[in-house]
Amino acid sequence: MSFADLGLSDELLRAVGDTGYTEPTPIQASAIPSVLMMRDMVAIAQTGTGKTASFVLPMIDILAHGRSRARMPRSLILEPTRELAAQVAENFEQYGKYHKLSMALLIGGVQMGDQVKALEKGVDVLIATPGRLMDLFQRGKILLTGCSMLVIDEADRMLDMGFIPDIEEICTKLPAQRQTLLFSATMPAPIKKLADRFLTNPKTIEVARPATTNTNITQWVVPVKGQAFEKRKVVRQLLRGEDVRTAIIFCNRKTTVRELNKSLQGHGFKSGEIHGDMDQSARIAELERFKNGDINILVASDVAARGLDVKGVSHVVNFDAPWHPDDYVHRIGRTGRAGATGVAYTLVGPDDAENIQNIEKLTGEKIKTLDALPGEPEEERPARAPRRERARRDEPVAAPADEAAPPSRRTRSEQREPAPRAEAPARQSRERPDRTRGQYNEPRRGRRDRDDGPDDGWNGPIPDFLQVTLTS
Ligand code: AMP
Repeated sequence: MSFADLGLSDELLRAVGDTGYTEPTPIQASAIPSVLMMRDMVAIAQTGTGKTASFVLPMIDILAHGRSRARMPRSLILEPTRELAAQVAENFEQYGKYHKLSMALLIGGVQMGDQVKALEKGVDVLIATPGRLMDLFQRGKILLTGCSMLVIDEADRMLDMGFIPDIEEICTKLPAQRQTLLFSATMPAPIKKLADRFLTNPKTIEVARPATTNTNITQWVVPVKGQAFEKRKVVRQLLRGEDVRTAIIFCNRKTTVRELNKSLQGHGFKSGEIHGDMDQSARIAELERFKNGDINILVASDVAARGLDVKGVSHVVNFDAPWHPDDYVHRIGRTGRAGATGVAYTLVGPDDAENIQNIEKLTGEKIKTLDALPGEPEEERPARAPRRERARRDEPVAAPADEAAPPSRRTRSEQREPAPRAEAPARQSRERPDRTRGQYNEPRRGRRDRDDGPDDGWNGPIPDFLQVTLTS
């Protein structure tokens, strides 16, 4: 099955092609044709299944064929959190790049005035959290009588957050003649009741949870006492001590991806990097180097790795525990494919503990702790003058000095590799951990173009999304 079999327009197929996705996920394959036929739908699916595209793609085509009515949103997507709303907006931008649709994001934490201005122009797609939408209603700033399509996403999370009464009220403000799609990971009674009341003869789709417990993957938590410096040391030992043929190392931030790759190269590892600051062609080129064996270690951010066909590696290392538990499932799913066994290590420093708890909550599994690292630890290097002092003396600066192993002390596996190259020192990260995202946390604001933001594909201030015209 390919995307072309689903009945989507050529423009959409082009946009999907640009992302690198070649095959629809099961939920996309079964939802898209029904949504295009204007059916109501209840989809029991959680994040990680590709559910967002399963409604965003057909919505774009449906909206592209209809006509807009002045000053009224034509469709509404309800999301439980700001962050999810922003992610959906990002999906609209990505898949709608060859269409000319407008979108507004209505979420808390943004100046209400800007949002009202955006609404006054009229939008094709309104993406909102229930709280902010109700707020605007109460101020008489919004009319939903032109909304012929409604998506209620993550309904069970809405229930947990106490949004169901708001959603019921919102439903009554939309025209009765409309298409409604409801997505929920589970179907507790109140959600079922909501679906019975507000959906008409819906098609029901249920997709399996993503394989969180692939038994081919041995998962380990690796406790690390310090921060990035200690983590890099541990990564090197893991990479040397195990039979690592190919590995992807995931980091939460672009800066960390760059720093780690540079450090690994400085230690003679054949590594490359992909992150959100590289355009798709550069990422694909790096991926090719990985596939054809020029490099055997790829340091990646979640966003950059998405949509790229990187599978079947022998090891996955989570340099940081991902902020989003779903990302953990995606990350480790890159190993242990098709009957092969794989190993996934997650480094857990002081900043990662909460993320690991959330991952274990999602997967319902406790990840075992690796008590002893495989292989030999690196020998400590003799103390050297502080870096600032060396710089003052205009010495040539080599790879992160406190880490680079002198050739005489190189381990067996290092001796197989080229000698460490002289590198500029990895820039010391001044970034503070961003543990403030998503369901578990709230997004931090105002980071667009800052180097230390998480590579979450959405690292900007919200106002940019408020009124986005999607053009080619
Ligand atoms: P979602 O369940 O919508 O949160 O999507 C989970 C992840 O899967 C996101 O990173 C999407 O970009 C990615 N994704 C969506 N559709 C596909 C596809 N057909 N093939 C590969 N990845 C996809």
